[in-house]
Amino acid sequence: TYLITTQKAILTPHAMAAACIFCKIIKGDIPSFKLFENERLLAFLDIQPLSLGHALVVPKHHGAKLTDIPDDSLTEILPVVKKLATAMDAENFNVLQNNGRLAHQEVDHVHFHMIPKPNQAEGLGIEWPAQ
Ligand code: 5GP
Repeated sequence: TYLITTQKAILTPHAMAAACIFCKIIKGDIPSFKLFENERLLAFLDIQPLSLGHALVVPKHHGAKLTDIPDDSLTEILPVVKKLATAMDAENFNVLQNNGRLAHQEVDHVHFHMIPKPNQAEGLGIEWPAQ
């Protein structure tokens, strides 16, 4: 599982994916409120939403940062972000993508946030889960 270097022990790519919380969500080992799914990506609600409807879009293939993801996988993500914003009627929203600790990335599996501004996702007849 570990590659030992003189500096530190680091997880192998396989072990990283096995330990990854978003990989567990993708596999269904950890429950999530799914919004969209196809063979290559998954969108689900953020567990600590900044606003109602705060969603995450992730490629199913594990990669920590934007720079680890193949181009074709990347080009599929923004249309899904757009689909979510449209479905939520979110006229005002932020799309956020963090890479690395200094940029406030907490989960090392590439993800795009779609964050509707407060109240934009309310009253759409969507039954949001209790937070
Ligand atoms: P980051 O700071 O890495 O860009 O954002 C990671 C996001 O993942 C955070 O907004 C956090 O609330 C969310 N998150 C972390 N763990 C879980 C989880 O187990 N389930 C869900 N749905 N979201 C999570």
